Amino acid sequence: MSTGRSTKQCSSCDTDDETFEYHGEDLQRMILCKICYDDYMAKEMTQYWKDHIQEEKRRTGMS
Ligand SMILES: [Zn+2]
Repeated sequence: MSTGRSTKQCSSCDTDDETFEYHGEDLQRMILCKICYDDYMAKEMTQYWKDHIQEEKRRTGMS
């Protein structure tokens, strides 16, 4: 018997809560709970903007 909601163990904090499947950089499958998923996304966004700002500086000749 199956329900729509899948509960797997979070691969980051081992919390047995509702989890999300996410593909990382090298298509590695990650199973994260909401908290770890948000945390991961926040880090990804931070890194994205860091890279973006670096790129902008390079383009405008500032370094
Ligand atoms: Zn977690």
